[in-house]
Amino acid sequence: MPSRHTSSSQHSCTHPTDPPPRRVRVMLPLPLDCAYDYLEDLDPPLTEGEFVRVPFAARERTGCVWSCHPGSGSAVDVKKLKHVIARRDAPPLPADAACFIDWTATYTCAPVGSVLRMAMSVPQALDPQANMTGYVRVEDTVPQGLRMTAARVRVLDAASRDVPLGATELARRAGAGTSVVRGLAKAGALARVACVSPPSFATPDSWRVGPSLSTDQETAAQELRCKVNTGGFSVTLLDGVTGSGKTEVYFEAVAATLKRSKQVLVLVPEITLTGQWLERFTERFGVAPAPWHSDLTQKKRRTVWRAVAEHSAHVVVGARSALFLPFPSLGLVVVDEEHEAAYKQEEGVIYHARDMAVVRGREAACLVVLVSATPSLETTVNVEEGRYDRVYLPDRHGGAIMPQVEAIDMRREGPKAGQWLSPPLRKALARTFARGEQAMLFLNRRGYAPLTLCRGCGHRFSCPNCTAWLVTHHKPARLICHHCGYCLPPPEFCPQCGVGDTLAACGPGVDRIAEETESLFPDRRWAVMSSDMTGGAQAAAEILTQVRDHEIDLLIGTQIIAKGHHLPGLTLVGVVDADLGLAGGDLRAGERTFQLLHQVAGRAGRESQPGKVYLQTYMPEHPVMEALISGNRDAFFEAEAVQRRRFGLPPFERMAAVIISGHSAASVETTARHLRRAAPRENGVDILGPAPAPLTVLHGRTRWRLLLKAPRRVNVPELVKNWLRAVKVPAHVRVHIDIDPHSFL
Ligand code: ADP
Ligand code: ZN
Repeated sequence: MPSRHTSSSQHSCTHPTDPPPRRVRVMLPLPLDCAYDYLEDLDPPLTEGEFVRVPFAARERTGCVWSCHPGSGSAVDVKKLKHVIARRDAPPLPADAACFIDWTATYTCAPVGSVLRMAMSVPQALDPQANMTGYVRVEDTVPQGLRMTAARVRVLDAASRDVPLGATELARRAGAGTSVVRGLAKAGALARVACVSPPSFATPDSWRVGPSLSTDQETAAQELRCKVNTGGFSVTLLDGVTGSGKTEVYFEAVAATLKRSKQVLVLVPEITLTGQWLERFTERFGVAPAPWHSDLTQKKRRTVWRAVAEHSAHVVVGARSALFLPFPSLGLVVVDEEHEAAYKQEEGVIYHARDMAVVRGREAACLVVLVSATPSLETTVNVEEGRYDRVYLPDRHGGAIMPQVEAIDMRREGPKAGQWLSPPLRKALARTFARGEQAMLFLNRRGYAPLTLCRGCGHRFSCPNCTAWLVTHHKPARLICHHCGYCLPPPEFCPQCGVGDTLAACGPGVDRIAEETESLFPDRRWAVMSSDMTGGAQAAAEILTQVRDHEIDLLIGTQIIAKGHHLPGLTLVGVVDADLGLAGGDLRAGERTFQLLHQVAGRAGRESQPGKVYLQTYMPEHPVMEALISGNRDAFFEAEAVQRRRFGLPPFERMAAVIISGHSAASVETTARHLRRAAPRENGVDILGPAPAPLTVLHGRTRWRLLLKAPRRVNVPELVKNWLRAVKVPAHVRVHIDIDPHSFL
């Protein structure tokens, strides 16, 4: 072979005896819909999924080989094609992952390159890990004249003559600092050697014995194990009341998958709150899983991406973007709390991670388990229509009973003006504390007050960039826009009428509830948890530990306290404003409020003491409140389904939203009206709008919306794509497509 093949980056001189270069098609992680043809003559030849460096638009870029057989369809003349520069030293993107990317792009109407970009989110991972420096002992005896300290003795004892250890690991084993290791190397007692770094994630022990399961749990676990062992694609809803042991049950499916040497992906809605979950996983399998979310350092992301691609990470627990990791051997996908709204990604490529998880599982031909105590209507209907299977856990583990739920009618029993906790709720809190038990107050509103206004002239503080009020926060004191982050120092005078002393905070946020409870129960220890809390995930985890250790009597928080936590001493849950989520007329408002409040209620009485839940509401006869009180979830969902079917709403019909935005309100409106005129006129397809979005201005951009409604038989993504293709959109106007929209703001 000519020598140029030994260096893959050289391809300029072609010998007449060489075979002709091959044509490959390369997808670039850019917002482009098509792959580009290149020539390659690497040795060995490229295969599909390999990552390669290619020249593109006067730059060098890394792309992924999408096809090795572009066929005659490619119009570009061979003479005009550029050469692939080199292959990257990384495992190829698995074929099923590539199919998943294509499918996601088609379904979400996003460019394939934009979806590929999510799979290539860690460019450094495409380089092999640099060799590590390890340390070995030079000889068994201590070198003459070496000053020995206790730490040095421990390090030499821990060091081996033939298995090199990294400085950090050696120091850890010796209980010393890395400076001791380096000092010994300098003194000649340890030698530095280059070595391959050890796998970053230990293999979970699938043979460890889990807790002994109840009969119901065992039946459910057996069904899942059986599906894992049979192999192939299927979807099962793991349905069961809060505290019934769903996690323990799907851990059994995880164990079965690991026994078959396959990888597991567990999606969780709020990755920063998985502390307790991680502890349980570690207890069950002996090691921690690989984490994946946006808060990881780039270095950690690199390690995880590479470990997944090399199958040295066996279980990944992650946020929705973990779906785009390059699993070569995926054997199980679990979506915990599958009904959670957090699974919908609303920016960039707009997708629903639960739905895409099902597609990922189909591409990998494996089992997908959707887990929830309050499954989404989408999933419920999929079960009813036979597309998904269901296993059910009817009882709480260990005989704990479901909490009793009661409404407090705020019209009759409400608090005095300026207070938010009604007398019955105050009494219940006092009783709970007197018994030495703990309580939780839930209000899905961050900060101190959602609105500040001037009593003199009526001026309301709003965001200059968004259609939104500024929210008052006390620590640190300022007014903040929850959409764009715009903030003001706390005002002393009304900017409109110039008068002081007239500004009033209206309505409560969690901090205001804390203020009220502080004055009611000055001796009780309380903590507030919300997604914007200072200290982030770490602080949240610490608070949960303090609650479990009973160092805190009262936990006050937004929806982040609703999820998954098992807090044994908690027996009272008070929902400060149960009606909050029902305002606004979103088609899923009822469903979501039920799910959220049921989840919150499920925190109470999970062990021996029974739990009690109070809902403060102005409409105790509302179907959502009635369902929460009676505990009759299925009746509520049936009624909800009847309504949705009658009005042709999802999941019985399909929807797509088209959102037009830009800095020029006039061009946005004109574009929206053009789109309306070009809308498809197909049988059964309805177009609603255009109309200004409820959140009319966001980040300074005016927004208009159109909504397409179609029967289930219609291929909505294709219809929408063709529709938009026919309209010329000015460069300064953006059009977003949201298939199966969940937000109508
Ligand atoms: P869910 O996910 O359904 O809300 P969990 O899996 O969190 O329920 O279980 C609730 C609590 O009961 C957890 O503390 C869990 O460890 C415990 N638990 C559930 N099943 C068992 C079991 N078979 N043996 C021991 N503890 C169990
Ligand atoms: Zn704003």
